[in-house]
Amino acid sequence: MERGLYVDGQWRAAAGGASADVVNPATEAVIGSAADGTAADATDAVAAAHRAFHDGRWSGLTPAERAAALRRLHRTLSDRVEDHVALSIAESGAPRGQSAAFVASGLAHLEYAIGAATADHDRMLPSPPRAAGAPPRVSASLVRRVPAGVVVAVTPFNAPLLLTLPKVAAALAMGNTVVVKPSPYTPLEILALAEAADEAGIPPGVLNVVTGGADVGAALVGDPRVGLVTFTGSDTVGAKVMAQAAGNITRVVLELGGKSALVVRADADLALASRIGAVNTTTLAGQGCALLTRHLVHRDVFADYVAALTDRLAAAVPGDPADARTTLGPLISAAHRDRVASLVRDARRRGAKAAVDGGPATVDGKGFFHEPVVLTGLGNDDPVARHEIFGPVAVVIPFGSDDEAVTLANDSPYGLAGAVVSADRVAAVAVAERLRAGRISVNDGAAADVRLPFGGFGRSGIGREFGPEGVLEYTEVQTLQW
Ligand code: NAD
Repeated sequence: MERGLYVDGQWRAAAGGASADVVNPATEAVIGSAADGTAADATDAVAAAHRAFHDGRWSGLTPAERAAALRRLHRTLSDRVEDHVALSIAESGAPRGQSAAFVASGLAHLEYAIGAATADHDRMLPSPPRAAGAPPRVSASLVRRVPAGVVVAVTPFNAPLLLTLPKVAAALAMGNTVVVKPSPYTPLEILALAEAADEAGIPPGVLNVVTGGADVGAALVGDPRVGLVTFTGSDTVGAKVMAQAAGNITRVVLELGGKSALVVRADADLALASRIGAVNTTTLAGQGCALLTRHLVHRDVFADYVAALTDRLAAAVPGDPADARTTLGPLISAAHRDRVASLVRDARRRGAKAAVDGGPATVDGKGFFHEPVVLTGLGNDDPVARHEIFGPVAVVIPFGSDDEAVTLANDSPYGLAGAVVSADRVAAVAVAERLRAGRISVNDGAAADVRLPFGGFGRSGIGREFGPEGVLEYTEVQTLQW
């Protein structure tokens, strides 16, 4: 599969003529290629989106007309669910069940955005009070939500459709035009999204996709015609994006990394707690922003929890992500696998014990796999407890009281998610309320629900995605009086 850039409704090669291979991280096979865009391509795409925004071909439609176009996109994508699942498996290495769930969830967010397109977000106020006898100067005021303009969306390699479609859907629903830059590791699903948008009759220039690396991202983010940057990725790159946007005072929404805490109280059902712990270690091979990677466990049940988690992880099934039985897929690249392995090695040198002692692995001699690892014997101030590893590595740390659990959980640069497991729901909610993170669940209450906002405190980001809060990020507030 050879793909070009999608700009102004046309497929075309990168300005420099280069393309980059896309590699299946489980088999190491080249499965396609995508244009390796340049800063000039980024500038062209913003120009196309800018024209499309200002001539009203999209922003000038009625909300119902935009909703109808997005409904066509939903139908087109729904007809290709299997293609998207296959692409997700092949380019990101997410096992079949996880890939299917991500695609379904992406579509559910599109459905939500279709509803939001026609919802009433404005507020009408009557004339303000005036002195007796004074003539009315203003008869009414309208507080409107208007589109932000050209939206640039820069997205990461994990769950590509799920982390891109909700941005595109909400931005288009609110009347913006969009330029997407996917991860160079996983461009194919996003190019397939562009193909679906084209087929659905989304007008030229309204959705553009420029594939490529950091230089393309930087050129898009730094373009003064951009009204809003929505970025999902690491906090390191997020900080650069914020600095690039700052030159033009462009607003940013940043969905960044995490080191989220799973708090296991002494009265917790350890079967449930260890299941949550194991799922959060193996899902996407640990390459998920909101995964619970710091397990804070009451001293009284520490050894039992570690034993239960060890048993669960022994049952993980590494293998070909296309095989429905696989629960542990590969990491995205050889370089990333080596980075994870070296972070684990360094922790062992600092005295960490490995209750589960995995390392780099292959399946049938191929792939960038890493086995699960459970580290104990380190404090919350150790680098593996502070920084995101983005691999199947859990750090388990003991605590003695709820106060200590809360202090440890909140002693993190991040604040994306958290969870509390306890037989005492009231006590668990009391702990949950004290956690400084954007999404907290109690006893596995983490059902996917597109109405709920998602985002982080601290280094986990700025702003929210999903739900009404997420949709309104794609607007500016305008006050109109007459
Ligand atoms: P990354 O930060 O390396 O890259 C993300 C995107 O930014 C890619 O498209 C990349 O090409 C682009 N980019 C790189 N340098 C850039 C620059 N200087 N200017 C503009 N764009 C640039 O992230 P990744 O490795 O693809 O993804 C993993 C990270 O994403 C993890 O930290 C993870 O926690 C985070 N993430 C966050 C969420 C969330 O919703 N909070 C969801 C998924 C992943």
